[in-house]
Amino acid sequence: QRRPLIAGNWKMNCLRADGLALASGLAAKASEKGTLGCDILVCPPATLLSDVVGVTKDSAVGVGGQDCHAAVSGAHTGDIAAPMLADIGAGYVLVGHSERRADHGESSTDIRRKAIAAHDADLVAVVCVGETEQERDLGATLSVVNGQVAVSVPDGATAKNTVIAYEPVWAIGTGRTASVAEVAEVHTAIRAELVKRFADGNEFRILYGGSVKPSNAAELLALEDVDGALVGGASLKLEDFWKIIETC
Ligand code: 13P
Repeated sequence: QRRPLIAGNWKMNCLRADGLALASGLAAKASEKGTLGCDILVCPPATLLSDVVGVTKDSAVGVGGQDCHAAVSGAHTGDIAAPMLADIGAGYVLVGHSERRADHGESSTDIRRKAIAAHDADLVAVVCVGETEQERDLGATLSVVNGQVAVSVPDGATAKNTVIAYEPVWAIGTGRTASVAEVAEVHTAIRAELVKRFADGNEFRILYGGSVKPSNAAELLALEDVDGALVGGASLKLEDFWKIIETC
């Protein structure tokens, strides 16, 4: 009964021509298809957000930012505030992607503040969590992920304003996908935490991300607590991303 969400994180890819071709191609396919089995989201780089909102406007394709600042405005050179994303027509924002956690030293507390800023701006926060390879090897996966969920997801989260994305760091961009059993174990644990903490914990969508591609999407999406995918590399190829959408 949870409607799947297939989200594309373009990361720091696509100049204008390629990005707009990708977004408009996706919008055209979605409109042609009519009824879809999932929601679709693309998260382009900030430079393309406004134009991607424009070319997807009358389609089922939603648009999100890849990050936002915790403050609504101010002296934060290079950052983007959540109300700015909402202002140009974005509906979602990723917060706490492992590349932000690693490259910019973002903590789970920082990420909770960003999620609150997203909610205050009426954006859906896609809160990303996931363990490193070293943490998995130490047997710490569930404690790390549950700890990230506990701190990164704010008390005001609901199934409507928040999506969780589980992305094991070692599976991102490596071609190495977590096994179905590994994904199932973590998603079940996240679900249990959400149910414990939120009245509508059963309705939150929990996405899997990490080398999702057409060949492995179906088996991952068939899992009980996998409610969609957060796709990096394969979301840059229209045919591949569309094949993943069609597995829903
Ligand atoms: P890949 O699909 O390229 O592994 O990236 C996953 C990811 O980080 C999406 O946010």
